[in-house]
Amino acid sequence: MPYFRTYTEIDLLAIKHNAEAIKRHTGKQLIAVVKADAYGHGAVPVAETLRPVADMFAVATVEEGIELRQAGIRKPVLILFSCLPAQVGQIVEFSLTPTIGDWEFATALNEVASETAPTKVHVNVNTGMNRSGVCRTEALQFLSRLKTLQRVEVEGLFTHLATADEVDKSFVSVQLKRLASVLAYNNGKMVHVANSAATLAVPESHFDAVRPGLSLYGIYPAAEKPISLKPALTWKARIGWVSTISKGEGVNYGLTYKAPYQTRVAMVQIGYGDGYPRSLSGIGEVLIDGMRRPIIGRVCMDVSVVQLEPSDKVSVGDEVVLIGKQGDAEIMVDEIAQRAGTIPYEILTQIGARVKRIFRPVTHNNEH
Ligand SMILES: *Cc1c(COP(=O)(O)O)cnc(C)c1O
Repeated sequence: MPYFRTYTEIDLLAIKHNAEAIKRHTGKQLIAVVKADAYGHGAVPVAETLRPVADMFAVATVEEGIELRQAGIRKPVLILFSCLPAQVGQIVEFSLTPTIGDWEFATALNEVASETAPTKVHVNVNTGMNRSGVCRTEALQFLSRLKTLQRVEVEGLFTHLATADEVDKSFVSVQLKRLASVLAYNNGKMVHVANSAATLAVPESHFDAVRPGLSLYGIYPAAEKPISLKPALTWKARIGWVSTISKGEGVNYGLTYKAPYQTRVAMVQIGYGDGYPRSLSGIGEVLIDGMRRPIIGRVCMDVSVVQLEPSDKVSVGDEVVLIGKQGDAEIMVDEIAQRAGTIPYEILTQIGARVKRIFRPVTHNNEH
């Protein structure tokens, strides 16, 4: 393997395992959410890996859908958020499945869609998330109005839950009740509601298909762990410099750390320019030679400094694990997120362009 300053290793078989475990757990269709480059795991290799398991893929934007199509992915690709009328040409050209949230977009789509093969769409019903979708009290009227459009076919109906990852599931019930008032008139459209948290913990939200993202990548969105998921991402960097500093010396911008005694330190080639959170300054930990070692001073754009123990066997070029296992030690993305004051979703999707991605097993799969 060539030398990479920092890289992630993506275990594609773990992602397949997680998708299969979710399918067994729910017994429903799987809409695999691969938005934001599959939460930093690589949308195309992940979609290729999940091709035999997923019934549909979901992305956030038209551009993300086009990327999958250009890589040869032929499964249905749902765009989770309403698109703009200016995008209808691309949606039809690349056979994407848009979410419809308003009449203006629907009529624009109807203008360009094919007469022989109507464009399939899903309708998002706003049941309380209040960030997108058709108002639930207007949904039935909207659906019957859509029937007048010859080249648009409503294939699915969905909503999104605001609090499925919380212990108190009472607002989940409120949203499901609100959805039920629309579903009472549903004639056979595919209904999907559950994100990862609801997929794992709210069986009554499973309907025809589930729509998980985070859990596909082996991370639990909440405390409930009814099935066994395997984390798929390991993030590594390298030692760039090792030294010993005298008592009272500071480290990095602002000299926020002061050595309490003569201290061995190592520079790790990772910084916020790689998406490693600056908020881990002085509170993060990394794995070196199978041991946890603390980040001292500020995380800089390109490098960070850790405190070593005198006995640590460390040389320039050695591997450092930021997320994942090394020897018997492990740092989970949940831990990084908690220390950085954020959520695993943000840590994963912020992993930057300078971080090389290595897929295992290597993908060269051209059948779709
Ligand atoms: C991102 C997203 C999901 C997946 O959520 P997870 O918590 O990652 O499982 C599902 N549905 C919609 C509408 C989303 O935006």
